[in-house]
Amino acid sequence: MTSHRDLALSILQKTYGYPSFRGEQAEIIEHVVSGRHAFVLMPTGGGKSLCYQIPALIRPGVGIVISPLIALMQDQVDALTQLGLKAAAINSSMAYAEIERTKSRIRLGELDLVYVAPERLLMDDFLDLLHQSPISLFAIDEAHCVSQWGHDFRPHYTQLSALAERFPSIPRIALTATADKPTRKDIVERLHLAEGRTFVAGFDRPNIHYSIQVKHSPQKQVLHFIKSSHARDSGIVYCLSRKLVDDTAEWLVEQGCKALPYHAGMTAEDRSRNQERFLREDNIIMVATIAFGMGIDKPDVRFVAHLNIPKNIEAYYQETGRAGRDGLPANALMLYSMQDAVMQRDFIEKSEAPDAQKRIERQKLNALLGLCEAASCRRKVILEYFGDTGEPCGNCDTCLFPPVTFDGTVAAQKALSCAYRTGQRFGVGYLIEVLLGKSDERMERFGHDKVSTFGIGKEYSSSEWQSIFRQLVALNFLTVDGSEFGGLKMTPQGQAFLKQKETLRLRKFSGKTKEVAPKPSRPALTFDDEGDRQLFAALKAMRLDLAEEQNVPPYVIFHDRTLRELAIQKPESLREMSGISGVGEKKIERYGEAFLDVISEHLRAY
Ligand code: ADP
Ligand code: ZN
Repeated sequence: MTSHRDLALSILQKTYGYPSFRGEQAEIIEHVVSGRHAFVLMPTGGGKSLCYQIPALIRPGVGIVISPLIALMQDQVDALTQLGLKAAAINSSMAYAEIERTKSRIRLGELDLVYVAPERLLMDDFLDLLHQSPISLFAIDEAHCVSQWGHDFRPHYTQLSALAERFPSIPRIALTATADKPTRKDIVERLHLAEGRTFVAGFDRPNIHYSIQVKHSPQKQVLHFIKSSHARDSGIVYCLSRKLVDDTAEWLVEQGCKALPYHAGMTAEDRSRNQERFLREDNIIMVATIAFGMGIDKPDVRFVAHLNIPKNIEAYYQETGRAGRDGLPANALMLYSMQDAVMQRDFIEKSEAPDAQKRIERQKLNALLGLCEAASCRRKVILEYFGDTGEPCGNCDTCLFPPVTFDGTVAAQKALSCAYRTGQRFGVGYLIEVLLGKSDERMERFGHDKVSTFGIGKEYSSSEWQSIFRQLVALNFLTVDGSEFGGLKMTPQGQAFLKQKETLRLRKFSGKTKEVAPKPSRPALTFDDEGDRQLFAALKAMRLDLAEEQNVPPYVIFHDRTLRELAIQKPESLREMSGISGVGEKKIERYGEAFLDVISEHLRAY
């Protein structure tokens, strides 16, 4: 047993160049090496890959990695090859001869790891091949794709249950970053992992700063955010619609940013070209629908911004989780509005899903709105949603700039009665006009200029009422009725509140100017010393040259994190350099001299 541990540690240090395991990595690896099944829940950037890669190296045979995204397999293979490992991918984008060659290498047990898409794996001839070959393990990546409750269900994944019958003695390790309780249960059942062990790491991503703001001029807000905190960084801007993606990308380019669009309405070539540029160049902003991102393991994405609210907290966490995989500081910014809530609600109602699922999705949307309006730590709200507990984090907008609250009891009563008196079918804009006593022809036609709530809300501005209504929706006192007009209806909780006359504290609307200029969290990569910053830039340039020579993404050579440490430590020999995290044997051999030259040149100049 312990010898497996020692072996695993020496692989970690020599091959990967990392000094020690994180969290439960060592336990998981030992468990899988001994031939048992495992289900691993770990946040993005937590280090899931090592949990199957190292066992695949220790156990005899080839490790089969099932992943849904063929477009990204090559990058994963490149990264492993850079470490000196023997890896290949098999997918429909490859030439016949190449596939045949890889198959024969599988049969001979010549490879350490092979990446395949589930549809390929499940072909009869491929299963036959696996039966004739030495297989060390099956790793099922993005395992939430197996569940209809997850947010990215893929029908082919469900057929992976066949692995348990066909290869009962080969360990299966399923991995995912996001899974609520029903999804977890589904994964364990469908992949027959009950007799294995589940490893749940904490979900926290402490290096990500969360910030959620009211949306008023989204493109300007996001530009301000980029210019003030991320002028030289890579990041993703998520939009709900293709049109908004195109418009926003174009606008950002006009404003001098390197922005590219990505959505399912583009041709496959255009999409993969943009994805490629995002992975290979520095400082690209990808403006995308959620079609973009799964499996993108670019470690130095420094920010994720949402111009529209995501579908629910799981989706939000998954999407923002793409920032800061390297552990360095990163920012997540979400802009939200009542219109977004109405739109998401509309999607749910119009979908073909059975009622039971719609009910779950409505609850999930409500939880997201609760997060948007939270007056307490955002991270705490998110982690509690996943069943984790914690203290206020000190690294989110509400921790850093606690919102002021006020006694909103009377305001809430007025707002709720107004919705009630006007028949519970009007949207927030109309209700506010009634409260402010601004009658128009339509209002007169409905006789709403005569209701008792007409003109009783003049103590607040329209924006303040907007904020009050959003909070009432987030508190689930009011709900959007799912019609395209976004009518607001009172819920049983809302009724109970009116009856019981409890006091209610609400978040005070903080005014427009302050929200246009969010306090950015510090820029992601800071250097105390200007010389170090310049050396870092020079090391990055060297990395880009080496990457372009080999046509691989720069991060498979070294991560920013490693370059940053090189810039600060300035090793002067290969031996010193090998002490830096992320510098393994193969990398020293291939790139040691090149980077040492950059450092010594810098030292001479200074
Ligand atoms: P996940 O798949 O969970 O999102 P990865 O496996 O891609 O995460 O790991 C995230 C980053 O952390 C990678 O750059 C990886 O090399 C690094 N990493 C993983 N384990 C360790 C470790 N024990 N020490 C240092 N870095 C690690
Ligand atoms: Zn916080």
